[in-house]
Amino acid sequence: WQLKKNLYLCAMNIQDSRSLQALLDKKPVITIIPHTSPDGDAIGSSLGLYHFLRNQGHDVQVITPTDFPDFLKWMPAAQDILIYPNEERKVEQRIANSTLIFTLDFNNLLRAKPLTPLLEQSGADFVMIDHHQQPDTYAKITYSDDKASSTCELIYKTIVSFSSVEAINYEIATCLYTGIMTDTGGFRYSLTSAETHRIVATLLEKGADCTKISSQVLDSYSIDRLLLLGHVLNDLTYLEQYRTAYMYISSKTLKQFNFRKGDTEGFVNYGLRIKEAELAAIFIENEEDKLIKISFRSKTNLDVNLLARTYFNGGGHINAAGGSSHISLEDTLKYFLEVLPKFLSLPNAYQPMPTI
Ligand code: 5GP
Ligand code: MN
Repeated sequence: WQLKKNLYLCAMNIQDSRSLQALLDKKPVITIIPHTSPDGDAIGSSLGLYHFLRNQGHDVQVITPTDFPDFLKWMPAAQDILIYPNEERKVEQRIANSTLIFTLDFNNLLRAKPLTPLLEQSGADFVMIDHHQQPDTYAKITYSDDKASSTCELIYKTIVSFSSVEAINYEIATCLYTGIMTDTGGFRYSLTSAETHRIVATLLEKGADCTKISSQVLDSYSIDRLLLLGHVLNDLTYLEQYRTAYMYISSKTLKQFNFRKGDTEGFVNYGLRIKEAELAAIFIENEEDKLIKISFRSKTNLDVNLLARTYFNGGGHINAAGGSSHISLEDTLKYFLEVLPKFLSLPNAYQPMPTI
């Protein structure tokens, strides 16, 4: 790889680029790991980097800590991904043999459950590329930019600064476009910058098909999934006083609608369709993991990352965060209603919005 200095002002810094170059020069056994329950950005960034490294002649494998939705399985080389725990032995062997591990779209090894212990035991060098707040310190090289719209944007910058825009081929463009599109909510969220659009323009020039990608990711509901959405919206509660809309899904309801991985993705956003709403929440019972998975979204400068961190063992971004709870769904909802006014009256509940 040839290092192009100062090509992008906020790409990985020169010292880290040099360290990464030195690691790559050793022809490492590379594994790429996105966060658990990977979304479009997690899979898009992992596969985008995978294609690039493979094209450069590297030995590289993507491993996901859990399965991921069918609406991402069409992505180029998605079939090459090892999914834990479906391929438990292969995954364990690969991680044990890896000398370089990229962790993408997360910044704390607890977000890679159930692979966390395997990663903690690994002797590999770690590289974190991520855009969430409060990065942990496990990686030898940390490229973390919480002003970036998506990890895919950071992978784009990494590829261009280590090689050139010529290295972006159709496969890479398709993967990165998908992640940028999903993490910006279709180029709508506040971190969508002029630079995001410039990057996306290049990805389109490289062959990413925006119509096909959005149809494969967004217009791909099963009838069960659409009816589940209807059921959930029917029970939505709007608390005018707190400008908060919340929804919940019990495991019984999930079974009733033949739940498949990814079916509830994006549901939380519907709460923000209410004009006055500032905060939306969804609580989903996960019988298998014996927890309630929670997602928060906001459309002003209300910091749902703070809400998730302070009360729900979670984290994320100002406008999109998540967490979990280990009490019943009913008790979790009660707890939420109890802490909501406390959260809203915290002095730092409203953050100054980043300038981009
Ligand atoms: P989602 O609600 O789509 O699952 O996640 C929204 C954002 O919050 C994502 O950026 C995700 O990485 C982060 N997030 C979701 N759940 C958790 C969690 O349990 N812990 C932490 N630290 N972040 C989370
Ligand atoms: Mn992301």
